[in-house]
Formats: sequence, structure tokens, C-alpha cells
Amino acid sequence: MLTQEELLRLFETAGAIRHGHFELSSGRHSGTYVQCALVLQYPRFAEKLGQALAGLFSDARIDAVVSPALGGVVVGQEVARALPAVKDAVGGGVPAMFVERDASGLLTLRRGFVLPPDTHVLVVEDVWTTGGSTRETIRVVEEAGARVVAAGALIDRSGGTIEFDVESQALLELKIESYEEDECPLCRQGNVAVKPGSRFVRSAG
Ligand SMILES: [Zn+2]
Repeated sequence: MLTQEELLRLFETAGAIRHGHFELSSGRHSGTYVQCALVLQYPRFAEKLGQALAGLFSDARIDAVVSPALGGVVVGQEVARALPAVKDAVGGGVPAMFVERDASGLLTLRRGFVLPPDTHVLVVEDVWTTGGSTRETIRVVEEAGARVVAAGALIDRSGGTIEFDVESQALLELKIESYEEDECPLCRQGNVAVKPGSRFVRSAG
């Protein structure tokens, strides 16, 4: 099992967690930038993270993994792959499905994915900021007649303050502060914020 330090290093190696002075897409400033796609682009890292996250739920019976697209798709696939074999399941393992936004912006189960009644579901996402997408995914799964037994994420940006109606665990709990620009302590030190999402990191000078 990877230690918290090893996990952190893995994210940092891939540039998925960066330290500095950033302007987030929300316009707020932060000293930490998180973008899980950057670590999940490396299949061997994605596989390790999937194994680590699946390991947190080894006591639960899980018949299917459901994730909100797009961010949850790769991690959902890797968690499902790492879960124990299921007798009589197609391919011998746990399926990984995803919900996606329809024209009205609501998450829905499409593409012919089927959750039979009493399917025990693990909902998996890459990052929890408010946990909204995971909450919505839980609702979709329950409306389909299945049962959500737990929820997991690679990173909980709230530092563990998010609550769900089911058992929940994240690999990394990071309390990431962000600030309005006029209240940003990093700006006050005279540093210029970079926008990490738009282009690769510009020099902060
Ligand atoms: Zn700032």
C-alpha cells in the first residue's frame, strides 16, 4: 500500500498537484493546483491509484463502479479493475459504468448501461471539491433501483469536511485554501498568479 507521502509524490511527479501561485478557473487564487487528468494520463500511475483506492473498500461487497464523466471515467475503470473477481460476472470482474450530462445538464445513465436491482455500487470520482457530482451520481444510481454502498475519490480538496449519505473515503485529504484576488496573501507578497489550465505553466518571473 502506498503511503500518503508516496501518493503525494506520484501526483507531484505528474504535475497533477503543483505548488506556487495560481489563478483557478473560478478566478480565485490558490497556492496549490490540482488536476487529476495529469496523473491519470499515465496508465501505470492510474493503475496504482485505482488499486490504492479500491483497497480502501476491501470490506464491502461491490458489484459495480459508477463514475461521473468525464473526470471519473479513468479512475472508475481502474478501481473496477482492481476490485476482487465476481463469480458469474461477464469477464469475471466488476463493471465500470459512467453517468454523463444530458442536454439539460443533469447526470444520467445512458449508452445501455444497466444496474439490476440490489446491485451494490461504489461511486468513484477523481476530486471532491464540494462533492456535488458524487451526490448527483448517488441519486442517479438509487433512482435506477441499485444501492450505493460507498463513495470514493482520489483527492478530497475539502480536507475531509464533505459528508455523504454513504460511507466515503478519499486517498488524499488536502485542505486547499483559495482566496479572492484582493485578499490573496501570495499577491500581497508581490508574486504574479499563473493560470495552469490554459497553457503549460508560464514563468512566474
Ligand atoms: Zn494571488
